[in-house]
Amino acid sequence: MAVQQTLSIIKPDAVRRNLIGKINSKIEESGLKIIAQKMIRLTKEQSQAFYIVHAERSFYEDLCNNMTLGPIVVQILEGENAIQLYRDIMGVTNPSNAAPGTIRYEYGESIDFNSVHGSDSLETSCTEITFFFSQIEIFR
Ligand code: ADP
Ligand code: MG
Repeated sequence: MAVQQTLSIIKPDAVRRNLIGKINSKIEESGLKIIAQKMIRLTKEQSQAFYIVHAERSFYEDLCNNMTLGPIVVQILEGENAIQLYRDIMGVTNPSNAAPGTIRYEYGESIDFNSVHGSDSLETSCTEITFFFSQIEIFR
């Protein structure tokens, strides 16, 4: 297995409910390292650009709007098999179906407010990291 980097977002619903520390604890307990992290608030245009792959989906408008409701924390996580590992500790998209112990099981409110984002492939992780971070913001 290879060391990978993945893009994580603590979404507005989780930031609003004061869950940054709890989610970061879950990330760190998994062995993943947070090698970059910042709090920002997305504009509607930035949100639409980030989720452009979902542009044709029925939930695109709501999703893009929900991501602008408050600040988010964007992070780069690094570790062995980081992309799949983070997907595993996040849990599936709908918190109602997420496995006990996962972030979405513990903290997600609904499919619209499911607390976290994680890249789903090597290709998207590169695109998503570049979307949010410049080289000088990443610890090496
Ligand atoms: P994931 O975040 O698990 O990778 P997707 O990439 O499929 O899931 O979708 C992006 C986000 O859009 C999800 O995290 C969720 O908030 C929202 N979403 C996905 N599917 C639906 C749906 N069927 N109805 C409403 N919102 C959805
Ligand atoms: Mg996704």
